[in-house]
Amino acid sequence: MSKGNINVSVENIFPLIKKFLYSDHEIFLRELISNATDATTKLKHLIAIGEAKVEYGSPQIEIKVDKDNQKIHITDQGLGMTADEVEKYINQIAFSGAEEFLEKYKDEKNDTGVIGHFGLGFYSAFMVAEKVEIITKSYKDEKAAHWTCDGSPEYTIEAHDKTDRGTEIILHIADDSKEFLEDSKIKDLLTKYNRFNQIPIKFGTKKINDPDFIPKTTKDKDGKETTEPHKQIDVDNIINNTNPAWTKKPADLEDEDYKNFYRELYPMQFEESLFHIHLNVDYPFNLTGILYFPKLTQNLDMQKDRIQLYQNQVFVTDNVEGIVPDFLQMLKGVIDSPDIPLNVSRSYLQADGAVKKISGYITKKVADKLASLFKKDREDFEKKWNDIKVIIEYGMLSEEKFFDKAKKFALYPTVDNTFFTFEEFIKKTKDTQKDKDGNHIILYAASKDAQHSYIQEAKAKGYEVLLLDSPIVSHLMQKLETSEEKIRFTRVDADHIDNLIKKDDTAISKLSDEEKEKLQPMIEANIPKETYTVQLEAMDSNASPFLITVPEFMRRMKEMSATGGGMMGMGSLPEMYNLVVNINHPLVSDILNTKTEKKRNRLIKQSFDLAKLSQNLLHGEELTNFIKRSYDLIK
Ligand code: ADP
Ligand code: MG
Repeated sequence: MSKGNINVSVENIFPLIKKFLYSDHEIFLRELISNATDATTKLKHLIAIGEAKVEYGSPQIEIKVDKDNQKIHITDQGLGMTADEVEKYINQIAFSGAEEFLEKYKDEKNDTGVIGHFGLGFYSAFMVAEKVEIITKSYKDEKAAHWTCDGSPEYTIEAHDKTDRGTEIILHIADDSKEFLEDSKIKDLLTKYNRFNQIPIKFGTKKINDPDFIPKTTKDKDGKETTEPHKQIDVDNIINNTNPAWTKKPADLEDEDYKNFYRELYPMQFEESLFHIHLNVDYPFNLTGILYFPKLTQNLDMQKDRIQLYQNQVFVTDNVEGIVPDFLQMLKGVIDSPDIPLNVSRSYLQADGAVKKISGYITKKVADKLASLFKKDREDFEKKWNDIKVIIEYGMLSEEKFFDKAKKFALYPTVDNTFFTFEEFIKKTKDTQKDKDGNHIILYAASKDAQHSYIQEAKAKGYEVLLLDSPIVSHLMQKLETSEEKIRFTRVDADHIDNLIKKDDTAISKLSDEEKEKLQPMIEANIPKETYTVQLEAMDSNASPFLITVPEFMRRMKEMSATGGGMMGMGSLPEMYNLVVNINHPLVSDILNTKTEKKRNRLIKQSFDLAKLSQNLLHGEELTNFIKRSYDLIK
């Protein structure tokens, strides 16, 4: 037996490791299983290149919990280590990693979230163990070694009589970490981190019906048949799928395989995804994965199912901020890359060139997939549009490259459910929908119900009205208006339709200028001046007499500030409306010619309330008064 001092300058490293990694103690298991996996794949490689002349067999990693003795065993059948290798890899190299870690993060004591991702590797075992043993037998023809360390920088190493190849790590669990001695806890961790591990992981056994057993059926003297119970046998309980869909070639997978994998990944999710995108690139970085567009749902559980980041089939995190562009965070699925530096802080990650390229690549793949779906089956794409539009619109706003591609497949549905691309819609309406200044007016509604009467009027004149109802669409309109010449999005209720779109046959005013000057103050006296601006217009006599409109500019600024357009302070803009009065309507002549002031005011108030009612602006006491007045009028 020999004794030594681990080569480390920090006197008491273990209490420090414990403290630093406090919030993420559980990763010890992931780290030790990763080492066991590495040891097994390394052996496979050495055999393949003829360096190791041993039988590979069908190696497993076994996890055993020995609650009575407060121990956890992690055993692999990998390449093992000689005593010299333990010296080198465990005592020197592994520790230098720990030192480097402490050096880097000594000033960031509180930011445990960052540190959780630092692959401290082997020494993370000391977060939960007061003593760690390694019993390891190399594939080389050398005696097995037994290393023991109790958490001080001192260790012992001696020979061991282990004869089968591989490494067993024994953790003597500390009293404050006894939770890890529960089978259920270990099972949870294995499911979280290792359910797609490359090497099979055995955790206990399970009973299955013995496939070789044929139950006998016997007859008693009355002729009654009884079949003996099926014999059960214990088999290894393998907790992982070593070959998840994303590691396969897209050509080898059917649609059904992708659907099955979605279910495997999110067992609690009963809704199917809309479509998937298989990521597969090996230059200039390595990345595989499958992303799914989910159906929009109110189900809150669904929002917990996020994109999972793996590194060589080991779960790392479901916080993919920085790696997956923001607008795609709503997607589901898996990405796996050995090239994403995980042992560094998030801020570093965002500045990292490789990571930026990954994010750009994902954006491009998603855009290409959407473009091909649109081309292949437009009808189906239109059906899915409502579920995917928010993601696409958000992408168009936040990524210029995505905007350029999405312009070709982003859809603009009309209130009658006909879908246009932007280009198609422009072509269809450019000759018929111009304003006085020659701008091309794109009419839209935000809600078929709220703007019903305005939509009807526009349609009656033969205009197309889009239904643009997603929360960020006002930002998108703003962007389209600046990227295209002379295009103005205008909500149907922004003004009377005849004022929005130029017609050849403008109505001639039936009132003289004098009459108009008389009418204006009569109306103004009956409406709140701070909120409403009275606007006298000569329109068709069959258009509404009173009409409330919401000027496009003000309304849109308000909407944009509400959805974070960076227009600070705009949220407190006052409500502003126009009251458009159609001076060619017979009712307006009546108002002008009514003898008593009392009756005139009643007519104005009633007409004004009706106009408010059609904009859904009549509430509370005003509504009560309106109803009362209406009954008075008809009795
Ligand atoms: P890393 O895995 O990043 O190299 P670790 O601290 O996890 O760092 O492990 C240090 C080294 O110890 C490994 O590189 C490997 O050489 C050796 N090692 C650890 N666990 C095993 C194992 N189960 N079998 C063989 N070698 C191992
Ligand atoms: Mg490791």
